[in-house]
Amino acid sequence: MWQGGYAAREIRSAAVQKHVGIEAHTLITPTAPITIGAHGGRAKCLQRLMRMDLPVPRTVALSFEMVRAIAAGNVPNLAPLLDTLGRDRLVSVRPSGEVADWGGPGAILNIGMNDAQHARLTNLIGPEAADALYVRFIQSYAVHVARLDPDMFDLSKPAGTEGIHALLDAFEAEMEEPFPQEPERQLGDVLRSMARAWEGTSARLLRQAKGAPAGAGLGLVVQVMALGVGVGRRGESGSGVIQFVDSATGQPQITGRYLSQSQGREALVPGAGALYLTRDGRGRSLEELCPGIFQQLQGFGALCRERLREEMQIEFTIEADGLHVLDATSVPRNARAAVRIAVALARDGIIAKAEAVLRIDPTALSDLLHPQVDPTAPRDSFARGIAASPGAATGRLVFTARAAQASAAREEPCILVRRETRPDDVRGMLAAVAVLTEKGGATSHAAVIARGLGIPCVVGASGIRIDSKACTLTGDHGRTFREGDIVTVDGTRGMALVGAAALLEPALDDAFQSLLGWADEVRDIGVRANADTRAEAEMARRFKAEGIGLCRTEHMFFEADRLTVMREMIFAERPEDRAAALERLLPVQRSDFKELFRIMEGLPVCIRLLDPPLHEFLPEGRERMLELAEALNLPLANVVARIDSLREVNPMLGMRGVRLGIAVPEIYDMQARAIFEAAVAVGGAVVPEVMIPLVSARREVELVKARIEAVAAAVRAETGVTFDYRLGVMVETPRAALRAGEIAETVSFLSFGTNDLTQMTYGLSRDDAGRFMGPYVQQGVFIEDPFLRLDIEGVGELLTLGADRGRAAHPGIVLSVCGEHGGDPTSIGFCRAAGFDYVSCSPFRVPMARLAAAHLAIRDPRVNGRQEI
Ligand code: PEP
Ligand code: MG
Repeated sequence: MWQGGYAAREIRSAAVQKHVGIEAHTLITPTAPITIGAHGGRAKCLQRLMRMDLPVPRTVALSFEMVRAIAAGNVPNLAPLLDTLGRDRLVSVRPSGEVADWGGPGAILNIGMNDAQHARLTNLIGPEAADALYVRFIQSYAVHVARLDPDMFDLSKPAGTEGIHALLDAFEAEMEEPFPQEPERQLGDVLRSMARAWEGTSARLLRQAKGAPAGAGLGLVVQVMALGVGVGRRGESGSGVIQFVDSATGQPQITGRYLSQSQGREALVPGAGALYLTRDGRGRSLEELCPGIFQQLQGFGALCRERLREEMQIEFTIEADGLHVLDATSVPRNARAAVRIAVALARDGIIAKAEAVLRIDPTALSDLLHPQVDPTAPRDSFARGIAASPGAATGRLVFTARAAQASAAREEPCILVRRETRPDDVRGMLAAVAVLTEKGGATSHAAVIARGLGIPCVVGASGIRIDSKACTLTGDHGRTFREGDIVTVDGTRGMALVGAAALLEPALDDAFQSLLGWADEVRDIGVRANADTRAEAEMARRFKAEGIGLCRTEHMFFEADRLTVMREMIFAERPEDRAAALERLLPVQRSDFKELFRIMEGLPVCIRLLDPPLHEFLPEGRERMLELAEALNLPLANVVARIDSLREVNPMLGMRGVRLGIAVPEIYDMQARAIFEAAVAVGGAVVPEVMIPLVSARREVELVKARIEAVAAAVRAETGVTFDYRLGVMVETPRAALRAGEIAETVSFLSFGTNDLTQMTYGLSRDDAGRFMGPYVQQGVFIEDPFLRLDIEGVGELLTLGADRGRAAHPGIVLSVCGEHGGDPTSIGFCRAAGFDYVSCSPFRVPMARLAAAHLAIRDPRVNGRQEI
């Protein structure tokens, strides 16, 4: 019944409407007017392949404008198009968007297949091949064009005449009309379906998520099929895909598959029985089967690389021993491969170094610096939160810093889980391989410390419940985990996963180093690192930071031996007891600073005087208080009373930063002395920078400055060594930004602490923002978390204002940003435009900042100071 009766079906009226003023189609030739902006990247690429004389089958392009008209129901008369391609040929349709990454509907092959073609091809290429082509077309038309249930067209029987009958009957039963026979009708339906799929809401949202503009267009290419099947003629037929670099590493390597008697990308279907391309011990290869064709393909790959200036993946078909190149697309690649490919192209002189730099997205670099969860492996997540520090690590759950240290002592990797972290959890964080917290935002304590340590961290996982007594954690779907259970934290995606996920190792290879070296040659804003410890300073050097922009000295006091002395200092009631404790802290600080100066080898080191409220150094919980009472030989009641007396209602706005420095000046005296004595000890190779935190008034600076000058004079007199230092202020309160002019007159540099400045400008707690950040971003209150990306309109205005007022009062004053925004590409763009001298960020973000700064300099070169590379 399927053989007859359809020829008389009318072509749908829409298919014959006229298109006034729009080119119905353009035959792609080496000189045809094809552009990416009008016809899409695939159409343009096919033209380029033709210009290189590659054997591309005859192809026509439909412009974005035409595809829009088709989506609106105005399908043009397709007879001229089919005449252009040849009436007896089957055709394929593929999407051609402006950027391949924006997606598009899948290709449809074998359009034009009908009863008549089936009969003709049965004679020409054999019944089996003709049957297979008809079956495939009915299936793809039914599922992708008529949008029928795929299960109904899943052919269990062999694809013979019987199978074809079954499919045609199923189609007619569902559609209440026979399967369309007219090639115009088939093609019109395919085009309309693809055009409408592009306009659909989910496709639109998906491509917008990838950065496509709202009005992004879709072009379509219609190409004569090289069949790839058929035994009636002599010679080999089949199809395959070839590329010349490895997608995971970027190393030169021929990869892909070839499958006899196949079409499209069937060779890549696992278990299809495809051949390897090059000789391979595991089985037969195309190189052995068709050495001439294999050689031709190798030549095409080299030509594409040279002329298209890119590593291409080539889709090819062999039809009766003849090679056809159907399509070529950029090789899919991960960040590591992208870097190696770009660097190799530049080294071979195919692209400029600046272009290699521009080809790598700075944010993708973090995938190279940390282990990552293998994106192809299955993942079973039990918690979601803010992706606070990238990378992934697997370990056993622990719920206290002490358990983390015990676990590290047993050499068992552990994941520290806390409601939120406090300074005395740092020891636990140092011992852990990753951190998960229920509370917190992108600049909360856990987030900042984890980024500094380079360990993965997820904060603000508000869906989890922690029972610290029972040492259990309850995650999504009520799943409960106990201490010792193995989990993986994916800090790149903000998830915690059950068990040990498959991880990919980091890659800091020569290609990575070369790319960043080229980036440094062009960038015109400095990049320093925020580093407090030896390990972080070493990391900063490894990532080629130009100095330390922020050393948070409080982090130096959390090692067990120092913490006790610090607590003694805090508990001291009499000045002489405090002096005795500070006397013991002095050598410890001095040796910390000496170590940093030595590691940084003369590069600038900016040391911030103590910032946090003192009670952060005090223990919480009866057990720890008892420990402290024992250490200090005091009654527990005294300890509890003193802790209570230090408690503040709002400690982040209380006695911290410079307020502490003025209320208890001996602390800053000790720190200044330690800095200067360390500078003397390393032989004057360093000009230390001393930074005062949380300033809001000029008088605060004057008071601290006078004491620091006195300490410097004393150290000079005692040692007989002259040394220089620079004094600066952290601008992190709105008032400091507003009064930056008068503050700038007293100091050599202003460093904007955008974490606190964001917190105080919005009145938004950086430690609690995680709770509502998700809904706020989703509903567009914030375009992005303002703790991660600088709020240019609000906080940015304070920065510009502070910078302008500072510069006006003190020309040549050094300006920088040392909040977490220093590592964010968009925020770096703002800082550069505002004329800041440098940004400072966690060591692991330094490479990203270097590359982002280079992108800015290449895209918007300044006349001064820029070198050509
Ligand atoms: C800041 O506030 O931006 C800053 C760098 O200091 P901290 O994060 O230590 O408060
Ligand atoms: Mg701060």
